Amino acid sequence: MKMLLFIIGLTFLFSYQDEYAGLRDQMVETQIEARGVKNKNVLEAMKKVPRHLFVPVQSQSAAYQDRPLSIGQGQTISQPYIVAYMTEAINPEPEDVVLEIGTGSGYQAAILAEIVKKVYTLEIIPELGITAKERLKILGYKNIEAKVSDGYYGWREFGPFDAIIVTAAAEQIPEPLIKQLNEGGRMIIPIGPAFDIQKLVLVTVKNGEPKIKKLFPVRFVPFTRD
Ligand code: SAH
Repeated sequence: MKMLLFIIGLTFLFSYQDEYAGLRDQMVETQIEARGVKNKNVLEAMKKVPRHLFVPVQSQSAAYQDRPLSIGQGQTISQPYIVAYMTEAINPEPEDVVLEIGTGSGYQAAILAEIVKKVYTLEIIPELGITAKERLKILGYKNIEAKVSDGYYGWREFGPFDAIIVTAAAEQIPEPLIKQLNEGGRMIIPIGPAFDIQKLVLVTVKNGEPKIKKLFPVRFVPFTRD
């Protein structure tokens, strides 16, 4: 009898986890691979990280849909495709040290942490920064350092970085962030007016000079200042 209950319990647990794993695989296939993201490590990370645990309980069933979701404080977790696209755009390598500005839910940081050696992430809203830090700890991410502060200044103590991802839209590229990129470093950032259409911009540093490439239109929450 005990054995039977144990087996029923296990079956329940696996089918429960599978429900989300299935949705995640489907999300990667139909929203991400179908739109041209090819980086194997990015696709694997998107299949692995439990996105439903990064959104409010009442939106968990919507976590794998093709859209951003509210995470409170007027902020959003980006659409899965945008997270995958931005991660691929900075060409993350296993030995890289990456800075993220705009921790939000911690989801993008977790995706990065599956791929690179170390992730530093900054969030300006204390409630979000503290919750995300706690969540990432519970999920067992040991290679993420999270702090509440204005990301405009980057995190000099741990820079320069191999790559920087900014997940809030700024009017201009913050100068201190460019300075915290290594030679060969990559930064992706939405640039443009708040509460309007912005452009994703990729900055790469070659021979000490930042080169700027405009990618496609996006809509992000604004980059704010203390
Ligand atoms: N990357 C997040 C998405 C967060 S939305 C995720 O995966 O869930 C963007 C976040 O940037 C918001 O939480 C917002 O508060 C934060 N933000 C805006 N301006 C900032 C700044 N100057 N420094 C740090 N974080 C900032």
